[in-house]
Amino acid sequence: MRHHLFNARNLDRYRDDMTSGLDALVGHVAGVTQPFSGTGVPSVAHRVAEVDLDQPLGDLDAVIDEMRTVYLDDAVWFHEPRYLAHLNCPVVIPALVAELFVSAVNSSLDTWDQSAGGTLVERRLVDWAAGRIGFGEEADGVFTSGGTQSNLQALLVARGQAYLSGDADPAEPLAQTLTRFRIFASRDSHFSVQKSANVLGLGLDAVVTVPTDDRHRMDPWLLDAEITRARAAGLIPMAVVATAGTTDFGSIDPLNRVADVCADHGVWLHVDAAYGGGLLVSTRRRHLIDGVERADSVTIDFHKTFFQPVSSSAVIVRRGDDLRHVTYHADYLNPRSAALPNQVDKSLQTTRRFDALKLWLTLRVMGADAIGDYLDDVIDLAHVGHGLLRDDPDFEVVVAPTLSTLVFRFRPAGVPEGIADEVNPRIRRTIAGRGNAVIAGTVVDGRAWLKFTLLNPETTADDLRAVLDLIREIGRELLDELRAEARG
Ligand SMILES: *Cc1c(COP(=O)(O)O)cnc(C)c1O
Repeated sequence: MRHHLFNARNLDRYRDDMTSGLDALVGHVAGVTQPFSGTGVPSVAHRVAEVDLDQPLGDLDAVIDEMRTVYLDDAVWFHEPRYLAHLNCPVVIPALVAELFVSAVNSSLDTWDQSAGGTLVERRLVDWAAGRIGFGEEADGVFTSGGTQSNLQALLVARGQAYLSGDADPAEPLAQTLTRFRIFASRDSHFSVQKSANVLGLGLDAVVTVPTDDRHRMDPWLLDAEITRARAAGLIPMAVVATAGTTDFGSIDPLNRVADVCADHGVWLHVDAAYGGGLLVSTRRRHLIDGVERADSVTIDFHKTFFQPVSSSAVIVRRGDDLRHVTYHADYLNPRSAALPNQVDKSLQTTRRFDALKLWLTLRVMGADAIGDYLDDVIDLAHVGHGLLRDDPDFEVVVAPTLSTLVFRFRPAGVPEGIADEVNPRIRRTIAGRGNAVIAGTVVDGRAWLKFTLLNPETTADDLRAVLDLIREIGRELLDELRAEARG
């Protein structure tokens, strides 16, 4: 049974099996006409449960057929133009070619003796990203599995630095000091900030929510006031998290003014650019994240606005030396005496995929400008979509887009707020059950809204019009039902 091992003796089998897989995938995608099948949980759950994992089928083609029933037939397709829900992107082909090498060579990016050149490729990309940010020579960073992990690592480093700062009292027990640490983030920041605070042992009150303006951007004056108030109360401002592209609104906190506040107070500035990071390669909108170069740390999700397959993210810090807060030594892996370059000293992970290779091939085949153009195109489309919503009496829209999200709801004249709150989530569920589009929902100030997240450069204004018409049609039916119920 050793013929299943990938090695030089089994290359014919490898080629045959990969070809079978590739043919099945290509054949399947060629037949995909909508982003989702519309299936519900019970039918998939039944098919998944039915498989006897202790009875292998052996034959790859049979297994692929079975996989269709548990996975592929009901997969959600981000490349379909009417997939408009979350921050998932269609992926670029050079990155998929890279995946082939990433998984078959299977380098692990922790140490030189498990990756060799891979270590240097990742380092070049970190340096490249740092250069795009505008950091200097001292910058460093590491690839991670996603924005959640990048944010956690950035805040872990910030915690280490805050502990060393004059604010912490060395005589106080560490556990107690940690409960005095505060992180400041806008009310529209990502929930991974809360999660990180919890993981870092800071306690449940650690994240101070800073109010936002009418475009959902952090208010720098109120940030300043909150930091001043915290200090006066004997608390220790550990970090400010500015979001460059909030998940719901794509809003970008005023980075330069937030950086001024951080500089005044001597507080770590982390910029969560998980979503907005793609602006680093935009040829038309790079200015939207001016000020990012003043951060102490930055999160970028390549698997969002760089059109990379999951996972691919990085945390980049202004002073590479600060990464020592994640450095631990193991005699077998990275002894203190080791002279070889390694990445494990900079990472929360040990064994780690060579995700950086995907971005490398992407940049080498397409170039950064082409990626930036994809992003600019979806931002253009968001502006067109905003115009459609603004001019349509059946819809309300929250704000003009900065990036590529639109938060809106179906609410024709005369429909009370409460009814709109009931109807909009039902519209979303109805559409999910049909599968010919996938849209998201969110809550703003306690009210139910719908959301488009546009990340597919192939989505057109006609797609948006068609989905809005679908929403309108379903919405009207639901309103009629409610009226009939009210009468009956
Ligand atoms: C998506 C996102 C994250 C989390 O990133 P993952 O890659 O999903 O872990 C963090 N912050 C913001 C602003 C995001 O949009």
